[in-house]
Amino acid sequence: MQQIARSVALAFDNLSRPHRVMLGSLTVLTLAVAVWRPYVYHPEASPVIKTIELEKNDIRSLLPEASEPLDQSPDAEDDTIPQDELDDKTAGETGVHEYVVSTGDTLSSILNQYGIDMGDISQLATVDKDLRNLKIGQQISWTLNDDGELQRLTWEMSRRETRTYDRSGSTFKLSSEMQQGEWVNNVMKGTVGGSFVSSAKDAGLTTAEISAVIKAMQWQMDFRKLKKGDEFSVLMSREMLEGKREQSQLVGVRLRSSGKDYYAIRADDGKFYDRNGSGLAKGFMRFPTAKQFRISSNFNPRRLNPVTGRVAPHKGVDFAMPQGTPVLAVGDGEVVMAKRSGAAGYFVAIRHGRTYTTRYMHLKKLLVQPGQKVKRGDRIALSGNTGRSTGPHLHYEVWVNQQAVNPLTAKLPRTEGLTGSDRNDYLAQVREVTPQLSLN
Ligand SMILES: [Zn+2]
Repeated sequence: MQQIARSVALAFDNLSRPHRVMLGSLTVLTLAVAVWRPYVYHPEASPVIKTIELEKNDIRSLLPEASEPLDQSPDAEDDTIPQDELDDKTAGETGVHEYVVSTGDTLSSILNQYGIDMGDISQLATVDKDLRNLKIGQQISWTLNDDGELQRLTWEMSRRETRTYDRSGSTFKLSSEMQQGEWVNNVMKGTVGGSFVSSAKDAGLTTAEISAVIKAMQWQMDFRKLKKGDEFSVLMSREMLEGKREQSQLVGVRLRSSGKDYYAIRADDGKFYDRNGSGLAKGFMRFPTAKQFRISSNFNPRRLNPVTGRVAPHKGVDFAMPQGTPVLAVGDGEVVMAKRSGAAGYFVAIRHGRTYTTRYMHLKKLLVQPGQKVKRGDRIALSGNTGRSTGPHLHYEVWVNQQAVNPLTAKLPRTEGLTGSDRNDYLAQVREVTPQLSLN
């Protein structure tokens, strides 16, 4: 220690006079600041502390579930309260800081400028990744605990949702509150002019609502085939919040095409049924034949093709069967293809509603034509060995939304109607909804 002092003194002596003066005055100044600071700080402290006490009480009432009891001790009026908390001008009477997100803001840039610990900020972003995408105009507010740490952050995400993050040890607990709007029923009617979509838009339906209508009706109606003059009536329940539409739910739809009426009415289970409570999604048969044949090749997206020897996905299942076996449509639908085509040989493709397509290949004889409507179980062809085939078999594919799936395991529509009290509830609903679906 002495040695250090001596070498410092020696170094000081070696300095030129102006440098010695400068270093000397700096030392004095530094000491003065160090010594004087508490005296400057002290006189200000007392009056401000009273405000802080008020704030604490208000914070406590806002945070009934705060895990740590707030400090009530009379020692609270000592001078250990950090300067930055005393300087806090953003906290109102309640101790709640409020901030409206503006251009360029991020959660960390906002909270950081108010002295919130970076560790807490990154905890928040971990608890809820959505916090990384604040939008301009959203309001966030927060309160601090006695230690000046973030206690609670509130984020008004939308008119609808407010998320709250409460301190829980070293992390935060997320809770969300959804604002409930008022559900209002709207009946929209129209006559098909050009396309159904444009006519429905003219009648006041949104794009999402039109999709819901088409989906509910998909098993009964191909909307592209509606004719000019066909009529529709749609009962839509819309949730309104602060005068704006939040979401809507289709309650029922009636369509009159070529003089015939079609209905789809929503049940409590969220599915659509006809007016008798029968399921509209007609069930699929698992196998396209009357009896089940041996599987000679499974669905396999990585299969080696036995003929070409190359890796080629096997997009269906092969059933070994004698030539001439009747091939059946697995569900109600429309034949979209029936022809001879290269490797597939004679083949048939059927579209079932909007989502499903089934394909049948290597057939010997076609029994249907493109455009033909088929019912579940209808004979569509006789099996064969045409195209690229190593023996008599039926190659059968199921496609869901443009994607081939395993026909043996895919989730397929099942025939289900309502029964018992569900059906009674539904029929009561039908009696209420149907009269509202009058046509113009
Ligand atoms: Zn095959």
